[in-house]
Amino acid sequence: MPELRGSHGDSPTNVLTRWFGTPDLHTLDVYESKAGGYAALRKALLDMAPADITNEVKTSGLRGRGGAGFATGTKWSFINRDSPGPKYVVINADESEPGTSKDRYILENSPHMLVEGILIAAYAVGANQAWVYIRGEYDEPYRMLSAAIEEARAKGYVGPKPMGKDYPLDIRLYRGHGAYICGEETALLESLEGKRAQPRSRPPFPAVKGAWGRPTLLNNVETLVTVPWIINHGGAAYAKFGTDKSPGTRLMSVSGNVNKPGVYEVELGQTFRHVIMDLAGGIAGGHDLKVFWPGGSSAPVLPASMLDTKTDMESLAAARSMGGSGGVIVMDDQHCIVRAAYRLLKFYARESCGKCTPCRIGGDWAVRTYERILANEGSQVEIDTLLRVSDGLQNGRCLCGLGDSAGWVIDSTFRHFREEYEDHALRHECNVGKVATSA
Ligand code: SF4
Repeated sequence: MPELRGSHGDSPTNVLTRWFGTPDLHTLDVYESKAGGYAALRKALLDMAPADITNEVKTSGLRGRGGAGFATGTKWSFINRDSPGPKYVVINADESEPGTSKDRYILENSPHMLVEGILIAAYAVGANQAWVYIRGEYDEPYRMLSAAIEEARAKGYVGPKPMGKDYPLDIRLYRGHGAYICGEETALLESLEGKRAQPRSRPPFPAVKGAWGRPTLLNNVETLVTVPWIINHGGAAYAKFGTDKSPGTRLMSVSGNVNKPGVYEVELGQTFRHVIMDLAGGIAGGHDLKVFWPGGSSAPVLPASMLDTKTDMESLAAARSMGGSGGVIVMDDQHCIVRAAYRLLKFYARESCGKCTPCRIGGDWAVRTYERILANEGSQVEIDTLLRVSDGLQNGRCLCGLGDSAGWVIDSTFRHFREEYEDHALRHECNVGKVATSA
């Protein structure tokens, strides 16, 4: 059993992690006997019509926890359940956003929650086959989820007649190939089909033409593990958590310069001060907070002065950022924001799939510009270049969100830390901790 690194237990707002910490929760026997597991699947298959399941999820207001935050029930309703031919559910477990490990936390603690959520979703949208696309580097989560699926198969929950219902359900696992872009939903589908992982143009959207050209529901791990709770307690009960437009709780993996890095379940609408200072124990080493990424490295940064920003999607949008993947990356005042942005741009440039020009060219261009600035060869020209590249990467000029993310790194770090950029580019010095750039 992996060591618990975050929230669990009997808090009233622990919707997902309440039973985490129960010995052997990863086994079917304990999941059923101690955590009430598979009661929601039984209820869904035997007592509910598929449309009622989707409506319950709609009532809950649950929004996707993978990044985009789209309304989950609405997404399910896009699949035409009565259309002839196969339909698929594909689960995005390719968690590779820097600073994000919440899905791993779920899979290592309670993999049957995901199995149960998948089976309910498949039944609701009229699919008989589900595929879990799991990050290739996730050995332990793969092993645990694989064992959970086989346990569920042996018990008959996965198979031709789950819970005695004449509705075949199957789940298969597919291990990813180590590229960040595989987490983009249409690149993931390409990879699942055995092709090079590059995003597709949309429309058509996966609900119409997804895996192998068939209608496909794509959901994130955390999104689906929330579904059994909603079926057990009702969508209205779930909607009481959080805010009106961002109901519920979500898992946040807090990393960086904090005393207690870990994965915490947070009721949406709580502040980042609560997440960073209370749950994660505050800034380590007696230093001060400088900046945080509220939703993985792809989310625009927020400075320490915005620590009271709330975690719901609307508050984050008003702050010109987003909840993204739920990864909260914390950086203290001993670090240089220009250097941090450079390292992230290197990551995005390296992970660009190369399909569209602004991202393929712009990422490398930005990296080379940062390198000139950090080598004390910068000027106003380099600052202007970075801002021009940033603009070229955003607002629909790229085919997928990777381009936007790279642009937001430049844009948001410059917006909040303009003086540091000017120190580096114009005065050739780094004033963080009074350390000269050339030292
Ligand atoms: Fe590929 Fe980048 Fe274009 Fe996305 S934005 S399709 S990663 S080149």
